[in-house]
Amino acid sequence: MRKANIYYYQLPMDSGVVLRQNKLTQREGWIVELMENEQQGLGEIAPLVGFSKETLDEAYAETVSRLQTWIEGGELECHSELPSVAFGLSMAQFELQGLLGKEGMYQVAPLCSGDPDDLFPVLDKMEGEKIAKIKVGLYEPIRDGILVNLFLESIPDLQLRLDANRAWSLDKANQFAKYVSPAYRSRIRYIEEPCKTPHESITFAIESGMAIAWDETLQEAVREPDFSFELLTGAKSIVIKPSLIGHIDLCIDLVQKAQSLGLIAVISSSIESSVGLCQLARFAKQYTPESIPGLDTLQLFKSQLHTAWPGSTLPVAKLADQALIWRQQSD
Ligand SMILES: [Mg+2]
Repeated sequence: MRKANIYYYQLPMDSGVVLRQNKLTQREGWIVELMENEQQGLGEIAPLVGFSKETLDEAYAETVSRLQTWIEGGELECHSELPSVAFGLSMAQFELQGLLGKEGMYQVAPLCSGDPDDLFPVLDKMEGEKIAKIKVGLYEPIRDGILVNLFLESIPDLQLRLDANRAWSLDKANQFAKYVSPAYRSRIRYIEEPCKTPHESITFAIESGMAIAWDETLQEAVREPDFSFELLTGAKSIVIKPSLIGHIDLCIDLVQKAQSLGLIAVISSSIESSVGLCQLARFAKQYTPESIPGLDTLQLFKSQLHTAWPGSTLPVAKLADQALIWRQQSD
């Protein structure tokens, strides 16, 4: 017998979470629960406002039609033009089939801002490589350059991942680079999308000697009908956000192509609840065990959902307490 449920969740965010100029006071989304042969699989479908093209309602409509077919005995069609749906359904099926690894990679690159002193205690607890992430491009590039330099100067074994979200012109990116001592530049693992266009970002990488990573460019590239991974060379790393990329088979394919070309693939969150986030940690352990995932987003929430992230002290809301919006089972 097959059973499927769709829950609607709404979780309060920590005050002061701002995404692309929008204040995010709560996170909402759908949790799909599949059951068959005593097995269960969960999937989170949570388009992120300002990042996903699809709306919550569009994602819901598509999800219901796919689940209806599955309940009636058909295949669960997980491929979709809506990346959040493709990710959530394929992950639910992956878990249902027992394919998702049990162990997770719960060590993440801490997201930090401002003060190196805040970072010391966090880094102290990190085993192995000390990698942190800093958002740049929000203020003057000179300020970012000075800050990054300060971090690298005061913590000698620190490596940084920076993310500029395409904020800079080539000129501004070069201004930033000027303030980072050449001796420290190799400890910047990468800057995600430094410039407004991929072309400028590549020019910046060549001129500054700093490694870059694709995030938005990857999301756009995989939507192209004639997508070829080779077009993405020029960067040292790719950041894979499954909720924005789509089916986990596509994510696995990207990881494997990156690895075969010597690029590093980093699994990252799109601010999923702890349900999706813990699954991403398991996925990362399974497919990218060499690279610390970018999953330090639970701290943006006031509450977890259903699955507790190891070590987190946030309260855990029950799935059964969320609104059960749709349920069906086969005869
Ligand atoms: Mg990014």
